[in-house]
Amino acid sequence: MTENVLSFEDALAIVLKQAHGLATPTALEVLPLLETRRRVLGRRILADRDQPPFDRSTRDGYAVRAADVTAGRTLLVLGLIRAGERWRGDALGDGQAIEIMTGAPLPAGADAVLMVEHAVPLGEELQPLQGRSLSKGDNVVPRGAEAHNGDSLLPTGCVIEAAEIAVAASCGAARLEVFAKPRVAIVATGDELVELGKTPEAFQIRNSNSYALAALVDDAGGEAVRLPVARDTLADLRARIAEGRETDLLLLSGGVSMGKFDLVEQVLAEYDAEFFFTGALIQPGKPIVFGRLAREDSGWTYFFGLPGNPVSTQVCFHLFVAPMLRALAGQTDLVPRFVEATLAGPVKGGAKVTRFLPAEMTSAWDGVSVRVVGWQGSGDIAANARGNCYAVLPAGVEAFAAGETVRLLLR
Ligand code: AMP
Ligand code: MG
Repeated sequence: MTENVLSFEDALAIVLKQAHGLATPTALEVLPLLETRRRVLGRRILADRDQPPFDRSTRDGYAVRAADVTAGRTLLVLGLIRAGERWRGDALGDGQAIEIMTGAPLPAGADAVLMVEHAVPLGEELQPLQGRSLSKGDNVVPRGAEAHNGDSLLPTGCVIEAAEIAVAASCGAARLEVFAKPRVAIVATGDELVELGKTPEAFQIRNSNSYALAALVDDAGGEAVRLPVARDTLADLRARIAEGRETDLLLLSGGVSMGKFDLVEQVLAEYDAEFFFTGALIQPGKPIVFGRLAREDSGWTYFFGLPGNPVSTQVCFHLFVAPMLRALAGQTDLVPRFVEATLAGPVKGGAKVTRFLPAEMTSAWDGVSVRVVGWQGSGDIAANARGNCYAVLPAGVEAFAAGETVRLLLR
C-alpha cells in the first residue's frame, strides 16, 4: 500500500470535494414540528401567504396620512384598531387619525403611523409633538415586505433550530419532512480496550472513543451504531469491517499508526478500499486515513481510520468526519467552523505540522480571547474536556505572542 500524506489544507479539500459530490439523501421522515430540532429539512418550506399578510403597524400610535403631520395641525381621532382586528369604518380622510396598536393592520387611506410618544392627545383630537414630521411608510411594514406567498423561506438541507421552527410555525407547518439520519458504524480497535462495566487490569484502557464518537455522530446528524471492539487481529478486523461497510459511514479508531499490530489499513486494502489519503500533516491526528469501500448495492461506504489517541480521534472528527457526515445527512453547510481570537498568553510554535491544541475560548463584549489548556499530549482526555475548542497553530511559526490573533476550530 502506498502512503499518501497530505497537507492539512489538501486533506480537507479532498474531504469537502467528496462530501459535495454526494447525492442528496432520498429517505424522508415526517415528524411533529417540535421533534424536528437539530434534524435536516428534507423539503423546503414555502410561505403560505404574504408576510406580513397586511400592512402592519410596528408601533403603538396613530395611523395617519404622513403629509398631515405638520407643525401646529390638529388631527381628528376616529377610533381605535387593536391587533387582531381590522378597521371597519370608512377610509381615513384628510386631517384624520385612527389610534392603532402594534401588530394591527393599517386602515385604508393611512400611509404611516405616528408613535404615541410623538403625539399629544387632546380629547377627540391629537396634536403631533412640535417639530415631528413623518414620511410615507414610517412605522409600517407593508404587506409582503418580508416574503411573498410561495417564496421559499427555508431551503432543503438547513438544520432546524428555534429560528427555523418559528418560520415553519408561521407557515402553519405542524409536521415537517426531514431526511432520515445516515447510519454510522463505530469500531474501536485495540487489544488493550475494555468495555464499560468491566474492571480494567492495570495495563488495560477503557474504550472511551466509541462513546465520544457516538456523541459526535449524534451532534453531526448521524445515527451511531456502536459495534463491538475489534481486537488487533486480521480476523476481528475483517469481521467488523464487513459489518461496518453495510452502513453509510464507517469510523474506525486506532490501528492506523506504524505499530506491528496496526492492521486497519491492511484489512481495508483487502476489501479493495479506495484510499484518498493515508495521513495529514496535523498534530494530533497525523495517521488519519480516508477512503471508501464499494458496497453490494453498488453504492459506496466512506470510511475514516482515526488515530486511537482520544484527542486525535476527536480533532480528526471535527476536521474531517463532521463535514462528510453532515453531507450524508443532507446538510449543505459542511465546512468545519473556524473563528479568530486573541491569544491570552504566549504559545510555543515551531512544529512542522498544523497543530490543534485544546484551548478555552472566552467570548466577551470586547472580543473573543483564547487560552491554550496545559496538556500531556493527545491521550489527555481530561485536558481536552477542560477546553471548549482547539487553537490552530500553523506549521513553521516559531512562537505565538500574547495578543496575537489565532484561528480556533469550534466544536
Ligand atoms: P493506536 O492508534 O491504536 O496506536 O492507539 C493510540 C493510543 O490511543 C493508545 O494509547 C491506545 O491505548 C489509545 N486508544 C486507542 N483506542 C482507544 C479507545 N477506543 N479509547 C481510548 N483510548 C484508545
Ligand atoms: Mg491500537
